[in-house]
Amino acid sequence: MATRKMADNKLYEILGVSRNASDNEIKKQYRKLAKEFHPDKNPEAGDKFKEISYAYEILSDPKKRQTYDRVGLKGMQEGVHDGFGGDDLLSHLFGGGLFGGFGGFGGGGSGARRRQRGEDTIHPLKISLEDLYNGKTAKLQLSKNVICTSCNGQGSKNGQAAEKCHSCNGCGIKVNYRPLGPGMVQQVQSSCSECRGSGEVIKEKDRCVTCKGKKVCNETKILEVHVDKGMRDNQKIVFRGEGDQQPDVEPGDVVIILQQKPHELFERSDSNLHIKHTITLTEALCGFSFVVHHLDKRDLLIKQPPGSVIKPNDIKKVSGEGMPIYKNPFEKGDLYIAFQIKFPERHFAPESTLLSLEKLLPARPTFVAPEGEHVEEVDLVDYDPNDRSSSSAHRGEAYASDDEDRHGSGMQCVHQ
Ligand SMILES: [Zn+2]
Ligand SMILES: [Zn+2]
Repeated sequence: MATRKMADNKLYEILGVSRNASDNEIKKQYRKLAKEFHPDKNPEAGDKFKEISYAYEILSDPKKRQTYDRVGLKGMQEGVHDGFGGDDLLSHLFGGGLFGGFGGFGGGGSGARRRQRGEDTIHPLKISLEDLYNGKTAKLQLSKNVICTSCNGQGSKNGQAAEKCHSCNGCGIKVNYRPLGPGMVQQVQSSCSECRGSGEVIKEKDRCVTCKGKKVCNETKILEVHVDKGMRDNQKIVFRGEGDQQPDVEPGDVVIILQQKPHELFERSDSNLHIKHTITLTEALCGFSFVVHHLDKRDLLIKQPPGSVIKPNDIKKVSGEGMPIYKNPFEKGDLYIAFQIKFPERHFAPESTLLSLEKLLPARPTFVAPEGEHVEEVDLVDYDPNDRSSSSAHRGEAYASDDEDRHGSGMQCVHQ
């Protein structure tokens, strides 16, 4: 009963017996109360009768009583211990709210405390955009601690009670004093290494052979992670209570965090997909066809008729070809295509033929050259932002010295 701190006292209170009551006392008290509150005699007290029956059912069974002593009602309701989770009566009683929440427990003495909860286990799961589009079941292997079945989490061979840890006097915490200065010490608390914070130890000869007294064993478990269509980067998939088990601690969750791998073609924003597509100037002016290989292996044939001019950075939309909507996968977002135009290289045609091209294009604006002494014709040369010598030297240095003072790296700012 060393771990009584986690349990409540409710079932003993219902029967009106002490926690140390013998089996005989419990039976006697149950018979008395059952007579008194039997629905035949006392139709108003139907719920009270059920509570009494339930309390007796648990406390009259040594194994169930031991479990209840250890985990309390809440622990049993959560089905931490096999065989209790599916208990119809239990769920009826709790479903009906008979016990009225757990906050009010433990009014009589041994204070009920919320069961400690273990830490969640976080697992990132890298996933492709294709899998987020089509859905996927991924198998994830993980190792976890489970309550030792040989000793039922007692840690001892034959249920020998654990002894109070002498090193920490049973409180699981050691207090050390660290000198801070003359006449001053700091109190430092740490988990007791002897009992690993549990406050109790089991003699070496009594230890469970399977778990070596650790109360838990390591087990490999395969989790099936269902990645639903339309799930997102960083979305969490939670496996309730699949975290490490530990006696008297409610296991934490296993939390899978999806991490989308970058895709070479598509970028996603919410339920929309974005791609960049480069066409030639000829296609931009005279129409084009191209194919988008979609995430479900369909080929989308995209056609643009001649004459529908596409300009640089134009964005077009294909409705309903984005990502499926999570939990509503027949609905989809849109696909956006941003166009880049590849212009022909210089001298792509002899000068003489350019005239015929010009005839096809809209007329150029009229231009009247200014005249006079103030007019100076200058050359236009290529500008290469990476060629430092071609940009004005003194300007570059001015930038550099300015920026070195501020950021210590003037070079990168020169070419903005
Ligand atoms: Zn200890
Ligand atoms: Zn064991």
